[in-house]
Amino acid sequence: MKVLNNIQLQNYNSFNTKAIAMLFCEPETQEELSELLKTYSKEKKLVLGGGNNLFFTKDFDGLVIKPGMQEIKIVSEDDSSVIIEAGAGVEWDMMVEDCVSKGYAGLENLSLIPSSVGASPIQNIGAYGSEAKDTIILVKTVDLQTGEYIEFTNSECEFGYRNSIFKRTNRYIITSVVFKLSKSFTYKEKYIDLSRELTDIESPTIKQVRDAIVKIRTRKLPDTKTLPNAGSFFKNPILTEDEKNSLQKTVLDAPIYNIGDNKFKTSAAFLIEKAGFKGKRTGMVGTYEHHALVIVNYGTNNGKDISDFASEIQQEVLKQFDIKLEPEVWIY
Ligand SMILES: Cc1cc2nc3c(=O)[nH]c(=O)nc-3n(C[C@H](O)[C@H](O)[C@H](O)COP(=O)(O)OP(=O)(O)OC[C@H]3O[C@@H](n4cnc5c(N)ncnc54)[C@H](O)[C@@H]3O)c2cc1C
Repeated sequence: MKVLNNIQLQNYNSFNTKAIAMLFCEPETQEELSELLKTYSKEKKLVLGGGNNLFFTKDFDGLVIKPGMQEIKIVSEDDSSVIIEAGAGVEWDMMVEDCVSKGYAGLENLSLIPSSVGASPIQNIGAYGSEAKDTIILVKTVDLQTGEYIEFTNSECEFGYRNSIFKRTNRYIITSVVFKLSKSFTYKEKYIDLSRELTDIESPTIKQVRDAIVKIRTRKLPDTKTLPNAGSFFKNPILTEDEKNSLQKTVLDAPIYNIGDNKFKTSAAFLIEKAGFKGKRTGMVGTYEHHALVIVNYGTNNGKDISDFASEIQQEVLKQFDIKLEPEVWIY
């Protein structure tokens, strides 16, 4: 296990912003990770997956740890289900594609999300009516502060909408994730875009569902290689009843979804578009022409340009609708 000095992080984040990491290491086993934490106990630490949900605004004068655990194994199986453990460094969609090809169901709606397996529980990745929490049964971690191994069952992960105990505490390095998948598949209509894409197929197979999602996502989202971005930049706001009523007075057509417990979700993309930001560009940063929630980088390598543009959006949405948009993306 090598610890490298002064590593440029531009190719390690999908926004392509420049920053130097004072120290950088890719431990490949839990033991290597524990040893690393013991040796560098005093340094500041930052954990990096595929860099698809973060960008840098300045150099990092500490240790960047990129978990490199690559093993995928079947832990157990019976006639109806299979339990799979995958290392944190495994590329998410490679695992999803592999599971779909074997007929293991549960991850197909999360096809093509750019992620490492290790980052999937952090914000409980979700798409097309499914979330990582629906199949995760165990998350294996090392405590950043004590170096101790700690396992979290599904309920201990405290999963929520783009949230988990890992995101809230920023204290655990995930080394592997255990999923329970089903050996049978029945298509359930959960999401309108997807049903539209599958409209000519009476009873879609798991492979047809994956293919449809890959098609929709490729059409809808900019490719990070040609137009650097980090997907949805902000979370959809969760409103109290009073906030919802007040929004509906200002914006009659605001989309509102009742999510129970007297809480309501509205669409960040809708508010950003209403605030006049769809396809808007300031210098080298703008919102994507087909999706106002995605901020894209047209050619800056300075993360501050991106965070400034995001603040501009937040201020305007706050001014017009009295709603504070919260970033989904991590800004370092
Ligand atoms: C084009 C595009 C589309 C996207 N679509 C979706 C979508 O549909 N749904 C969705 O939910 N997200 C989506 N995202 C966001 C992104 O895919 C997820 O947040 C993903 O989980 C990020 O994975 P990563 O490995 O790149 O993590 P990184 O960006 O490297 O890290 C994200 C956070 O997790 C932490 N972290 C990473 N690995 C570990 C680990 N092993 N242990 C502890 N902490 C860790 C990091 O410190 C950081 O705080 C999209 C992003 C892009 C660019």
